[in-house]
Amino acid sequence: MLHDSDGNEEHTTGSVNEKVAEKKPNDGIKDKCQCTNGCSVRSCSCFESGSGCNSSCGCSPSCQNLFNHLDYFFGENHRLSAHSCFAKWLMNHSKNANGFETIDRDKLRKRLMKAAKQVEAFDDDDLQEWLEEWRTIDESEKLAHTQQLFRLLISDHSSSFYYSFCDNGVFDEDCHWHCVKCQKCVEWRFWHCNRCNKCTYFKEEEFLLEYMQHWNFLLGTYGVSSPCERCGRM
Ligand SMILES: [Zn+2]
Ligand SMILES: [Zn+2]
Ligand SMILES: [Zn+2]
Ligand SMILES: [Zn+2]
Ligand SMILES: [Zn+2]
Ligand SMILES: [Zn+2]
Repeated sequence: MLHDSDGNEEHTTGSVNEKVAEKKPNDGIKDKCQCTNGCSVRSCSCFESGSGCNSSCGCSPSCQNLFNHLDYFFGENHRLSAHSCFAKWLMNHSKNANGFETIDRDKLRKRLMKAAKQVEAFDDDDLQEWLEEWRTIDESEKLAHTQQLFRLLISDHSSSFYYSFCDNGVFDEDCHWHCVKCQKCVEWRFWHCNRCNKCTYFKEEEFLLEYMQHWNFLLGTYGVSSPCERCGRM
């Protein structure tokens, strides 16, 4: 979604990262829905963003939004949405419109732990703390602790890392993201070109300049060079 920020004069690496994160198409679909068709399709803005419906939606009582059942993963009273990558995976993997019970949480927990170990994500404070507790708790606490790992890695409030189902690995949120338009994970330097309807990127050395020019284009000020390497239009 376009937004009103035009702070692209900042040149530090940090701010470039921020700008890249800001114009993800994933943003701007947080509005609550007004569906009359049960919220089980992508035309529902809540479903599309991996969120459950709530009382501010105009949809109940016919609501059948799959993501109303996310407490199965995140625990009661957390009201989190699924990370966009997890949301896509859930759309493909939940056979049962009534919930996620067919998905094995322990198997998913093992998959996340294995991936986190591979990239040493357990050096991260939150994850390290989680792992230390995991080793000491007894059987009865394991489900709640598993849900905490899910909140850390596959919710929209994930830690500095998230688990990518597309790429089967744990990634730094600043270096990797899931594009909801392409429905795939890409590196940070990719951004979604609405004209091409694809994620695209510029060569490293040209990145900042091209990005800023494209950004001006998207804002309607029509920069001096082409908007992206694929469509190549002025
Ligand atoms: Zn809806
Ligand atoms: Zn809704
Ligand atoms: Zn709904
Ligand atoms: Zn993904
Ligand atoms: Zn393009
Ligand atoms: Zn994309």
